[in-house]
Amino acid sequence: MADDLVLENVTKRFGAMVAVDDLSVTVPQGSFFALLGASGCGKTTTLRMVAGLEEPTAGTIRLGDKDITHLRPYRRPVNTVFQSYALFPHLNIEDNIAFGPRQRGERDVAKKVADMLELVQLPAFGKRKPAQLSGGQQQRIALARALVNEPQVLLLDEPLGALDLKLRRQMQIELKRIQTEVGITFLHVTHDQDEAMWMADTVAVMNHGRIEQLGAPSEIYEFPASPFVANFLGQSNLFAAEVSGTSDGDIHLAAYGERFAAPVARAHSADGRVWLGVRPEKVRLAMPGEEVPAAHNRVRGVLTDTCYAGVSTEYLLKTPWGQEMSVFSANAAAGEPLAPGTEVVAHWYPPHSFVLDRPAGEGDEATQYSADPLGVAP
Ligand code: ATP
Repeated sequence: MADDLVLENVTKRFGAMVAVDDLSVTVPQGSFFALLGASGCGKTTTLRMVAGLEEPTAGTIRLGDKDITHLRPYRRPVNTVFQSYALFPHLNIEDNIAFGPRQRGERDVAKKVADMLELVQLPAFGKRKPAQLSGGQQQRIALARALVNEPQVLLLDEPLGALDLKLRRQMQIELKRIQTEVGITFLHVTHDQDEAMWMADTVAVMNHGRIEQLGAPSEIYEFPASPFVANFLGQSNLFAAEVSGTSDGDIHLAAYGERFAAPVARAHSADGRVWLGVRPEKVRLAMPGEEVPAAHNRVRGVLTDTCYAGVSTEYLLKTPWGQEMSVFSANAAAGEPLAPGTEVVAHWYPPHSFVLDRPAGEGDEATQYSADPLGVAP
């Protein structure tokens, strides 16, 4: 579209440290786009380059057909909302919102301010000072103060990070509503996968300065393209497997002496060494000897942990080869959760599997691949 935000081969180095690594991405005009990743993956640096607060080491940034790579921040049709609100404490709310338009010498500022207060649903708060507002209200004002400038792109840098969980949920719904209402591009940086999935039309999962996968939240969740994504966005069980053949649209796999199947359409890699993946909520538990649909993949095991989590019960089971497997069971039926020590058969419908490439050296031991959400692994 005309005013898509396009980053082309953008790299940012700080000395020897590569914060953003040859990143190319198109953020469609009018979309709610989330950059999701662990701390240190380069998402804030990417946002700051779009804002003009950091200069790319290489690459170009365009907004529509305009190259904005080296444009001064205040010349870009872009505004940023930070986690820390950054409201002027000595100005009242109206004057905070009016600040940008007044600086540009605009007329009819009062009407714009009133419209913005209406948009963020705080029409009666104009005369207060920021300190007389709650955190959530201050964040709405920060949003109003950015939107009143009618930017083409609104950058949101962990805007809800300082709010408690309940307020964050409310603000997520609110932000989504406002984005739909104003229709401008929102580029939102977060390390919170739920937040990204809740709000964004498109999520780009970042790792080590690169985008590992990009797509609609459901697409990425249902068909992750790498072990990192499979465990950064939700949890996955990954089994180190080898492809033994294909037939009738299915790929056949061998892992730890057991046989498994997955549709070819669910495989990012269909020969040699692979990861066989399945989400914990797709797996069901049966008792040994209980009937299980013939085509289902199955893994025997012993429950090692049972955690009642209200809407579901989360089980850990140990497989015969020593790997731990997670199973989430919705608490829809009556009955007590199964106790640790119970022998079970975990089973799932093959189309719920996904298959990923497994480079040499990965998964040669029976361990579950796990992501490192805090980015602190050596
Ligand atoms: P967080 O969620 O913790 O903010 P992030 O994904 O936004 O993380 P960035 O802030 O973009 O990550 O940082 C990416 C990498 O670049 C980090 O290793 C960081 O230490 C480094 N970095 C960022 N800014 C600078 C700077 N001004 N000088 C040197 N290194 C920097």
